[in-house]
Amino acid sequence: MIPRSVRIELEEALGDGIRFGVPLSRHTSLRIGGDAEALAHPSGREDMARLLSICAEHKVPQRVLGSGFNTLVLDGGIEGVTIQLSRMRRLEERPNAGVRAEAGVSHSQVTRFCTSHGLSGLEFASGIPGSVGGWLSMNAGIPENEMKDVVREIEVMSPTGRHVRHLGRGRLRFVYRALRGLAPGSVILSVLFGVVLSNPDEVRLGVNRLLARRADTQPLNVPSCGSVFQNPPGDHAGRLIEAAGLKGLRIGGAEISPVHANFIANIGGACANDVLALIEAARTKVHKQFGVWLAPEVRIIGRPA
Ligand SMILES: Cc1cc2nc3c(=O)[nH]c(=O)nc-3n(C[C@H](O)[C@H](O)[C@H](O)COP(=O)(O)OP(=O)(O)OC[C@H]3O[C@@H](n4cnc5c(N)ncnc54)[C@H](O)[C@@H]3O)c2cc1C
Repeated sequence: MIPRSVRIELEEALGDGIRFGVPLSRHTSLRIGGDAEALAHPSGREDMARLLSICAEHKVPQRVLGSGFNTLVLDGGIEGVTIQLSRMRRLEERPNAGVRAEAGVSHSQVTRFCTSHGLSGLEFASGIPGSVGGWLSMNAGIPENEMKDVVREIEVMSPTGRHVRHLGRGRLRFVYRALRGLAPGSVILSVLFGVVLSNPDEVRLGVNRLLARRADTQPLNVPSCGSVFQNPPGDHAGRLIEAAGLKGLRIGGAEISPVHANFIANIGGACANDVLALIEAARTKVHKQFGVWLAPEVRIIGRPA
């Protein structure tokens, strides 16, 4: 529990940038999740530094949530302060074919910007919903490209808010669907992407081609969190789940998508426990039939109800 005196300090520091007891089901693409004890939206890096320093000083847990497109928040909610960077959305073209984006910039903002400026290189990410911070933290990608291919540098604030470091790509340890090596509690503030000057029509064509491919293969009209499991080496989680006969399996309000077996959809009133039960059912059956333990790609956070 955040002590009352610390709540007051947080309110004095952030004004309307902090609220208490906020349902996170409104902040995740699955539309699932208990309350954030506090949800902070710092308006810039000074606010962020103050927020992190208050949390560190009073030992209040803090964690960043991007746009919640790859996160399952458990029904008991999240203790301490959950931070979103949705007020940190500056996006600009930089010299030598660079684009600098603050971590709260959304995928659609990047796509619109690159398309209208004729900047090529990030088309692959146009259909990967989320924030730039979430893209980086997840090393988001498609089979052909990942974030690691386009990042030149990131700017990171230390967990206490005291230091900001610029880390060049050589110092970033990207692995499949993760960025390793940052101290726990660090906050990615911004990213410098390397792009190539092109023409707007060609960039638009590339984006549209990839979005069309996605629309054909993914259930985009129901709340989901994208791929639930990582692909095991040399195979696809979706293929294994489908081969195990689990497409369409429902528990409570959650369903293994009949369109793409690696997606779990909230088809109405699902709670986190429904999704967890489907995850367990898929892992167990796939292991029994194929000897493979699937590892979750979705980040599962918070307390059980
Ligand atoms: C329909 C659909 C399709 C999808 N397709 C793809 C796909 O093709 N490829 C793919 O890779 N993913 C895909 N995803 C998953 C998701 O879009 C990506 O993982 C995306 O990067 C999530 O971004 P987010 O901001 O929503 O992150 P969140 O889910 O909010 O957070 C993910 C992680 O990032 C961390 N994080 C976020 N911002 C910061 C920051 N500023 N500093 C430090 N840590 C931070 C969080 O703490 C968390 O651990 C899909 C999801 C959906 C719903």
